Amino acid sequence: MLKWLRNWREDRHLARLGWPDSAWENAVAGWSVAQRYQGEQRRLLRDTAVRFLMRKPIVAAGSMELDDAMRLLIATMAAVPVLGLNLDWYANWYTIIVYPQAFTPPGEVMDDYGIVHSEGHPLAGEAWHQGPVILSWNDIEHACHEDGYNVVIHELAHKLDMRHDGPNGAPPLHRGMDQAAWSRDFSAAWEELEAAVEREGEDSERLPLDPYALVNPGEFFAVISEAFFERPVPLHKRWPAVYKHLGSFYRQDPAETGAPH
Ligand SMILES: [Zn+2]
Repeated sequence: MLKWLRNWREDRHLARLGWPDSAWENAVAGWSVAQRYQGEQRRLLRDTAVRFLMRKPIVAAGSMELDDAMRLLIATMAAVPVLGLNLDWYANWYTIIVYPQAFTPPGEVMDDYGIVHSEGHPLAGEAWHQGPVILSWNDIEHACHEDGYNVVIHELAHKLDMRHDGPNGAPPLHRGMDQAAWSRDFSAAWEELEAAVEREGEDSERLPLDPYALVNPGEFFAVISEAFFERPVPLHKRWPAVYKHLGSFYRQDPAETGAPH
């Protein structure tokens, strides 16, 4: 569909929906990351979240019941990673499915990239290549505590990563970004995290990043993207070069103001 036509239809739809700003404000009040965006950026965040809702149905599964406030919160979390990009970065997939809590995939399945999702292991979220994003509401609520976790950002970072050669930790970089420097600095951070896990143990509070990142480079990108938006200041301090690459990719500087640049 032509972009201007879609935008025009969305504008009309937006006007008809007539969500008061207060409904959005109430929906995101418990998520501190949203408070980082003020003024023009706040309007952009709200607008992007509502447009996201128009493009991607957020549907309930299992015994889940979703209301507008829950959908607005999920859509706002989804809007944050593309605030400096645009919603077209989420093209080619259509639905978010929300379970009440961590869900167990029905069986052992292998995706297009040979990644096996095994039976019996409950997941907080899952992103299928060109398919839906599946989330657990319990874990979304957990994202509102300030601990660096955010399952929505995690799964949507996978979606951005998948735009280039699948979920391999190498999303399509913008013109002028240095792929070799990206790989070098991400590899160095990976090795540091690996060494820290060996030294401190998997459960240590002193680890710079959730050790789940070490499952594969795709998980590393998703986990560090969560940290970039949820706990940007410690990430910037620990791995300034990686932070800078993420800032160039997402076109945001959350350690500073949260504003896209
Ligand atoms: Zn993941």
